[in-house]
Amino acid sequence: MRVYNTLTQSKVEFIPREEGKVSIYVCGPTVYNYIHIGNARCYLSFDVIKRYLKFKGFDVYHVQNFTDVDDKIINQAKKEGIPASEVAEKYSQGFIEDSKALKFDPPDIRPKATEHIPEMIEMIQGLVDKGFAYVEDGDVYFEVGKFDEYGKLSHRKLDEMEAGARVEVDERKRNPFDFALWKKAKEGEPSWSSPWGDGRPGWHIECSAMSLKYLGRSFDIHGGGQDLIFPHHENELAQAECYTAESPFVRYWLHNGFVTLTGDKMAKSVGNVVLLKDVIKKYDPMVVRMLFLTTHYRSPIDFSEEKLKESTRSYERLNNLVGNIDRVLKKREEKVSRLEPGRDVIVLKAFIENGEPEFVEAMDDDFNAPDALGGLFKAARDINTYLASYDEFSLDELDMLQDIKELFIRLGGAVGLEFTSFLSPEDVDEEWREERRAVMLSGLAKFAGVNVKDAGVLFNRDFPGFVKKFVDLRAAKRAEKEWQTADTIRAFLDSQDILLEDTAAGTLVRIRRLIV
Ligand code: AMP
Ligand code: ZN
Repeated sequence: MRVYNTLTQSKVEFIPREEGKVSIYVCGPTVYNYIHIGNARCYLSFDVIKRYLKFKGFDVYHVQNFTDVDDKIINQAKKEGIPASEVAEKYSQGFIEDSKALKFDPPDIRPKATEHIPEMIEMIQGLVDKGFAYVEDGDVYFEVGKFDEYGKLSHRKLDEMEAGARVEVDERKRNPFDFALWKKAKEGEPSWSSPWGDGRPGWHIECSAMSLKYLGRSFDIHGGGQDLIFPHHENELAQAECYTAESPFVRYWLHNGFVTLTGDKMAKSVGNVVLLKDVIKKYDPMVVRMLFLTTHYRSPIDFSEEKLKESTRSYERLNNLVGNIDRVLKKREEKVSRLEPGRDVIVLKAFIENGEPEFVEAMDDDFNAPDALGGLFKAARDINTYLASYDEFSLDELDMLQDIKELFIRLGGAVGLEFTSFLSPEDVDEEWREERRAVMLSGLAKFAGVNVKDAGVLFNRDFPGFVKKFVDLRAAKRAEKEWQTADTIRAFLDSQDILLEDTAAGTLVRIRRLIV
C-alpha cells in the first residue's frame, strides 16, 4: 500500500510502526460553530482512510480531539452571551450529531483539550527546561530558531519565511515565527494555574500533548486539511520532536484538499460557508459521502448544488443495482433451475472475479476512491443492463447475483457506503409491517380520525391502500393550504421509513429499507 506523505512530498510504501496495527490522530474541530462542508470533507476523508485500513485487516486506533479552548470560542461566547464552556459543549454535541448523520466510524477516544492541561504544562515545562522555549511576562514561547529542522513539514526555510499574514508580529518574540505554548490569562477568559502564572495553552501544544499521551512517541498517521500543514502541524512536529528527542513524531502526514466555493476556499473567516447540517436536511448523507468519494482526497473540490445532484444520481446508480438484485433474489422460488443455453454470464463472472482486486488496487494507491468507485459504476451499469434483459433467472445466476450483492455491500462498506433498497408498499414483508403496526394505526387514528379497529382491518387486508390514506390526506391538507399538517403527515411517514416524493406524475411512495 502506498500513501502520499506531506513530509517527503511523495508516495511511499505504508509500513506501520507495529505490524497489523495503525494509530491515527486527526485534528478535531475547534468547537465554536457547526461544521461546514469543508470541515466535513476532512473528517470524511479520514473516515474513508480509517475504514479502508480496517477493511485491509489492520487494527486501527483512532484519536480525534476537541479543541475546546480558543480565542474563537471565547469570542463566540461573548456573541451568544453564554460562558465559553457552554459554547464548547453545544458545538461538541453538534459535531457528534453531524458525525453520526454522516456515519463516521467513531474515534476510539475524543480527548478534550481542557481535560489535558496538566499534560500540556508538563510538556511546556520540558521544552523550557531543554532550552527550546522561553518565558516572557506570563507567556511562554517556542523558539523556532532552536530547532534546526523547523520548516521540514511545510518545506520552507526559516530564514526565507516572511512574517505577516499568518503569524503575529510581536516585539517580545525572539523570532516572529516563535509561537505561544502558553498564553497569560486575560480578564474574563478561561484560565488555569501554571508555573508561569494563570493562563491557557496555545492551540498547537494541545494536539502534541494529546497525541503523545494516547498514541505514544511515534505514531503512524496524522491527518488534517492542507491548511493545517503550516503553522499547526509544523509546530506540533517541532514541539514533539524537541520534547521527546525522537524522530519521527509521525510516520505519515496525510492532508486532504480544500473544498472551495466558486473558487475560494470555504472558510468561516471568508464568510462563504455552507453548513453540513443544512446540506443534509435536503440530501441523503450518503450523497455527501459520494460527493467526496468521487474526487481524490488530496484534490480540491468546488462545491455546488449541481455536484450534489450529480452525486445523488451516482449514489442511486449503485443503490439501484443492489435494490434490483435484491428484488430478483426475493422472487427466487419462481425461477427456473437451469441456466438457459446461450445466455452469457460473463458480466456477472467478471465482477465476481475482478471486482475486489481492482477495487483494492485503486485504494492501495494512496486511497484512490474515485478509481475504485469507477469499477463499481461500470459493474453496476453492466449488471443492471443484464437484469433488465431477462424476466427469469436460473439458480446459477441467482447464486452469482447473491455473490455480487454481497461484494457490493462489502466494497461499499470499505469506504463507508451503505445501500438502501427502495421498495413499494406492495413489496414489504409481514415482519416489516408488524414492526410498525401499532405506531401506524395510532397515526391514522390521529391524522384521519379513523378508529383503530377499522384502521387495523385495512392494514391487514390492503397495506398499500392503508398507506394511500395518508397520502390522500396529505394531498387534501395541501389543497386546503394547511401546509404544516401536510408536512407533519409526511414527517410521520418518514419516521416509519415511508418516503413521499412529489413528482409530475403524482406522489410516489417509496419504502426505505437498509440492505444488510
Ligand atoms: P478547523 O475547525 O478550522 O480547525 O477545521 C477543522 C478541519 O477542517 C481541519 O482539518 C481543516 O484543515 C479542515 N478544513 C477547514 N476548511 C476546509 C476546507 N474548506 N476544505 C477542506 N478542509 C477544510
Ligand atoms: Zn491539531
